[in-house]
Amino acid sequence: MKKPAPEPAPTPLAKAAAPVGKKEHQLPDFRNLVEEAVEGVLIHSNFKPLYANKALAQLFGYKKPEELLALPILRPLIPKDFWARAEHEYDDLIKGRVPGITGRMLLQRKDGSEFWLAGTQRRIDWYGTPAVQVTGFDTTAQMEVEKTLLRNEQRLRAMLEILPYPIYITRISDGQILFVNRKMCLLFQTGARHLLRSSSVDFFVCPQEREELLKLMETLGDVRDIEVRMRTGTGPTNREFMAEVAAINIDYDGVPAVLVAINDISQRKELEAELFKQASTDSLTGVSNRRYFMAQAEQELRRSRRFARDMSVMMVDLDHFKKVNDEHGHAAGDAVLQSFVKRALESLRQSDQLGRLGGEEFAVILPETNLVAATDAAERLRRHLEERPLVADLMAIPCTVSIGVAQLNAVDGTIDQLLHRADEALYRAKNGGRNCVEVAETPPV
Ligand code: GH3
Ligand code: MG
Ligand code: MG
Repeated sequence: MKKPAPEPAPTPLAKAAAPVGKKEHQLPDFRNLVEEAVEGVLIHSNFKPLYANKALAQLFGYKKPEELLALPILRPLIPKDFWARAEHEYDDLIKGRVPGITGRMLLQRKDGSEFWLAGTQRRIDWYGTPAVQVTGFDTTAQMEVEKTLLRNEQRLRAMLEILPYPIYITRISDGQILFVNRKMCLLFQTGARHLLRSSSVDFFVCPQEREELLKLMETLGDVRDIEVRMRTGTGPTNREFMAEVAAINIDYDGVPAVLVAINDISQRKELEAELFKQASTDSLTGVSNRRYFMAQAEQELRRSRRFARDMSVMMVDLDHFKKVNDEHGHAAGDAVLQSFVKRALESLRQSDQLGRLGGEEFAVILPETNLVAATDAAERLRRHLEERPLVADLMAIPCTVSIGVAQLNAVDGTIDQLLHRADEALYRAKNGGRNCVEVAETPPV
């Protein structure tokens, strides 16, 4: 059989709260402390009140402790539904089954209104009588605040859940995921539980981009419209996508964290790339169209000027192309143009940019190239086309080109001026009998 727990010694509080007696003069300060304590103190034996301080009497709506102590039993102070629990707890304490009980209990004021008392119950010895000492304070207001906070948090979570964007909250220190919404699970094709075990470091294709994002947030605070490459995980089946993110610094249960909203812009990026391709390339041959070629040439001109580098251009025109159309038909003419581009790209360098200015007229930007090297390149291209006929629908169609070459010089104000000089050289090549290369006269300054 279990030995009953030894009776705890009378607490200083109980001693201090003792009625005026022999020892009163020894502990006057303690007694006063209890009498005036802001916390309520009550001592009862089997719910018969033995002692109550002022604070406790006030908690129950009594002006003086004596009024409360006049109650034969404390039952009116305990709502009926809690009687059983109160009796059970009293029994546990008196029989020494538990050394003390800490928690909240619902109590009833003199006027019948209820309040929550947060406190502690302990068994004490009241002048030889086993009793229970209750200390506590009214926690109703605090509980209301807690309830409101909980409601607010639930509302915030519901709002994050309903948003059409994937959202996650991550701990700054190590990237640990603290919260994900449903859209986030859908985007990552996995459950919240799995995501809550992962680190946002793995969501970034380049972990450096995460570092940069955090650094940016250190200086700017909240950020938006930041494009980063993300992935749904580190495995081979995981998907990579372009994300546009907005991020805010938050305090998550006292932990410095970041709330990130993701917009998967992969489709938008693909569409943009497709639109760009359509707007910048010639649909027949796949090389830059006139507009994009001119933009590329302008950019190259600026770069050459800034870094004082050489730059040359070629104007290339197919010879007697009208005859190709006339003899083989327009479709064959189209195929010859495609075949020309293929062959020209074989001859040109990777860094050279070929564009179709219109019809059977093409141009080439040759970065880092002086007039001598550009003329060599033009001559190489001319011979490459002369050597073998072009091919259209298994038909071999001989076709040559005339080329005008010009190098960027200090006089050329715009790309148009440079191309114009190359065009003049081309004109001379045509007049000179075609299938030849002519060089722009103006010597580079
Ligand atoms: P030259 O040697 O003087 O350049 O003579 P050419 O016949 O090549 O020049 P011309 O300017 O007289 O004729 C160009 C021809 O190119 C006329 C036009 O029908 C043809 N052409 C222009 N664009 C296309 C096209 O996209 N496809 C086809 N098949 N033919 C085209
Ligand atoms: Mg021509
Ligand atoms: Mg022409």
